[in-house]
Amino acid sequence: MDNIVNVTGGKGGTSFLILGDKKAALIDCGMAYCASNLISNIKRVLNTRALDYVLVSHSHYDHIGAVPYLREQWPDIKICGSEHDKYILNRYNALKTIKELSVQAAEIYGRGLFKEYNDEMMKIDTVISDGDIVDLGGLSIQVLETPGHTRCTLSFLVNNEVLFASESTGVMSQSGKVYPAFLISYSKSIDSINKCREINPKFIISPHFGLVNKIDALQYWEKCILAARESRDFILHLFNLGYGEERILLEYENAFQDEEFRMEQPLNAFRLNTRYMIKAVLNENCRQR
Ligand SMILES: [Zn+2]
Repeated sequence: MDNIVNVTGGKGGTSFLILGDKKAALIDCGMAYCASNLISNIKRVLNTRALDYVLVSHSHYDHIGAVPYLREQWPDIKICGSEHDKYILNRYNALKTIKELSVQAAEIYGRGLFKEYNDEMMKIDTVISDGDIVDLGGLSIQVLETPGHTRCTLSFLVNNEVLFASESTGVMSQSGKVYPAFLISYSKSIDSINKCREINPKFIISPHFGLVNKIDALQYWEKCILAARESRDFILHLFNLGYGEERILLEYENAFQDEEFRMEQPLNAFRLNTRYMIKAVLNENCRQR
């Protein structure tokens, strides 16, 4: 684990630097407001070396917000992501939403500090897909497609032993509880959890959390499945009682939004994610009938 350094710049999104003998890569880069902290943390580790790659798990603002500033700092950098993310980051509306959410997050977490950037800087240079290997020299990163959170969320396996699990599998909180985040598909998320479990990695890095300790790691995948299933069953139960989406959202909020979660995620983000999960469950349920 000496070659993997947590360089997270601030609250809201984790970021890890992976150091090979020849190249260095960043896995996700967190939000825009804390890009300068992120860059100082990276420089402290790299000294005069350059940052060569950023591997992005998906194109949500809390995972790619710092991309333009990293490109400004290291102009030869290659931003690597899925084909779907490359497409998303060519769309005017998506770029606009990313910037709006980045500005909002800067107000909540970063005293309003937001440095304007050109949308041209926010793009994928190299498309990566399932099975690809990024060779850093003496160290390799394998790309795994693990959809469910988005259409093409990526996970990364470093040297066959450290798995950077994507949000499709869930997000762990400080107390060890796992929250589901299957925004586009429950069943794809379950497949993704099983895919990760089969790899049986020595270490798990949970998104928005970091390294899962040895005890929690034993139960991790099972917890992810139970958390997703509990949410799915709750939504379906209310739907079968005749509840509409808005009412399901309210009941869901009462049941699942505990104190700890309120500390870690703004209510708006919780509602937005829950709305997506309700739609995902109901869509899949209708298709099965
Ligand atoms: Zn996300």
